[in-house]
Amino acid sequence: MAKPLSADRLVKALKAEGLTVHEVRNWRRHNRNSKGAWGPLNGVMIHHTVTSGTEGSVRLCYEGRSGLPGPLCHGVIDKKGEVWLVGNGRANHAGLGDGDVLSAVIAERKLPHDNEADTDGNARFYGFECINLGNGKDPWPKAQLEAITRVSAAICRAHDWTERSVIGHKEWQPGKVDPRGFTMDSMRGRIADRLKKKPGDGGPVGDGGGGGGGGGGGGSKPAHEPFPGSDFFHEGRVSPVITAMGKRLVAEGCSEYKVGPGPRWTDVDRRSYAAWQRKCGYRGKDADGIPGPDSWKKLKVPNV
Ligand SMILES: [Zn+2]
Repeated sequence: MAKPLSADRLVKALKAEGLTVHEVRNWRRHNRNSKGAWGPLNGVMIHHTVTSGTEGSVRLCYEGRSGLPGPLCHGVIDKKGEVWLVGNGRANHAGLGDGDVLSAVIAERKLPHDNEADTDGNARFYGFECINLGNGKDPWPKAQLEAITRVSAAICRAHDWTERSVIGHKEWQPGKVDPRGFTMDSMRGRIADRLKKKPGDGGPVGDGGGGGGGGGGGGSKPAHEPFPGSDFFHEGRVSPVITAMGKRLVAEGCSEYKVGPGPRWTDVDRRSYAAWQRKCGYRGKDADGIPGPDSWKKLKVPNV
């Protein structure tokens, strides 16, 4: 039983665990708290989305769908093992589940079979939706499984819980099958191993900074567009690099665009980039909207 983590504490815990964290739109104030309780918190629930593609899946989990308003979870874990935070507070993910299961989670003992739907899970569990079609064939990449492990471990550490506080939706609500493709016992085993280590162990999840970095020495193209220099960004510049940058700013929720983004550098690009710099923690002159090497590296603009 625990008080919910604040947005800042959650982000800090996830980053300390080596995860890449994206803060989506107004996630810090996006919740269903007007509809019911949020807390006390007892555990973490893992789901699969039955969708593919990061952008669409993240949007769906933020906005919800007709008859089921968002947020549909707290965070989305994509196939690369990156985390997209979409909600902070009560979210529509767990639904009604088995009160005997909740008692077992609270006591951190072996779970009984879920055969009742008598308890509001949305008040009690953090929810993470993992992008997978849930058809038993869609693979679970190593980086994604590692991210599920670390997200769970980060929250368990913050609340002083064990791996027994992490359950699958299928262990909570009769009729649910998610997550499908790995067993929750195997996942809890991984989380237990992770909890024996330090949060920073193992470095970043997945490809981390990805590409670039000067490794390899010629041949294959780096995954991300190298920083073209601050002088590149001026009135009159037209380049596909600017379109690619703009798309990444939109994905990061830093869009001032009414149309586009397009290839021509304009004041809207500058204002959008300034929002990204502020999101990265820069202030004043360091957030003037002209890209610098560090904020550019963090933005991970795909190579064009
Ligand atoms: Zn689910």
